[in-house]
Parts: sequence; C-alpha cells; structure tokens
Amino acid sequence: MTGDPHDEHLEPVYESLRKRGHRITAQREIILQIFREQPHGTHLSAEELYSNLLGRGSTVSLATTYRTLKLLSTLGLLRELDFAEGHKHYELKQDKVPHQHIICISCNTTIEFEDHFLEEAGQKIGARYNFEVIDAQFKIFGTCPACKASPPTGRTMRHNKNP
Ligand SMILES: [Zn+2]
Ligand SMILES: [Zn+2]
Repeated sequence: MTGDPHDEHLEPVYESLRKRGHRITAQREIILQIFREQPHGTHLSAEELYSNLLGRGSTVSLATTYRTLKLLSTLGLLRELDFAEGHKHYELKQDKVPHQHIICISCNTTIEFEDHFLEEAGQKIGARYNFEVIDAQFKIFGTCPACKASPPTGRTMRHNKNP
C-alpha cells in the first residue's frame, strides 16, 4: 500500500472532520497518515511525531504538532494516552476493537489487551451521566515479570548514614 492521500480508508475520517466544521489540511492528513503507517501497538509522543514530520520535509512547528494532536484527539480520531511518564502518547483510534493498556512503572513496557467487559463498563458509566462516550481508557500500572525478576540497576540505594 502506498501513502495515497485519497485512500478510501481515510474517507470516514475526512467525513468526520468535515461534519464538525474542520478542514482537512495537508498537515492533518500527513499526521493521520503517519499514525496509520505505524506498526500495531505503537504509541507516538508529540516529539516523536514531530521528528517524523521533519524527516518527511515538513515545516510544521512543534507547537502546531501539539495543537493538531489535541484537536484530532478531541475529534475522536486519535487516542490521547497518559502513561504517567510526564508526557502524553497518541495512537490511532481504531473503531474495530478498542484496546486497553497495562504499563510497567519500572521499564515503561506497555502491553495492549482487549476486554469487552471494560469497554461496556465505560459505555454504561458514560450513559449514566448522559455522555456521548468517544473513548474509554483503562490503565493498569504494575511491575512486569522481567522487572520483578531483576530490579533495574542504577537505582542503587545510597542512603549512607556516614558519607
Ligand atoms: Zn495502544
Ligand atoms: Zn518492566
């Protein structure tokens, strides 16, 4: 598959933008295209997306990148993910099966999983408050098996009483 901007898969996306009164600028088109090209399970930070854009010869600014990511998330085209790392990640919002994340707080490994019970719970809770739910995210934080087996080095305890 080539990066044809008139890819029929993008049509619903354009339609959704149009309906809400947003233009499909070349920048937004390229950004969505980059997300579509990522291997499954990739979560891009604004900085990673920005360097990808620069690599394609784009002259977009980092500020515009941030704003566009925010807008596309608000429109429900991207998912904004916060893995408690101090910066956000983004991924394409896929209509098929929403997935959730389990995150290792030690090495930041992120595993994706699907769970219909969680998805339904999100929809139900949203409906209870009369919300139109665009996304329901559940995050599980913990320590992965590798980190449990060997605690990360470089974090040696140095609380010497007699320095
Ligand atoms: Zn994900
Ligand atoms: Zn880990």
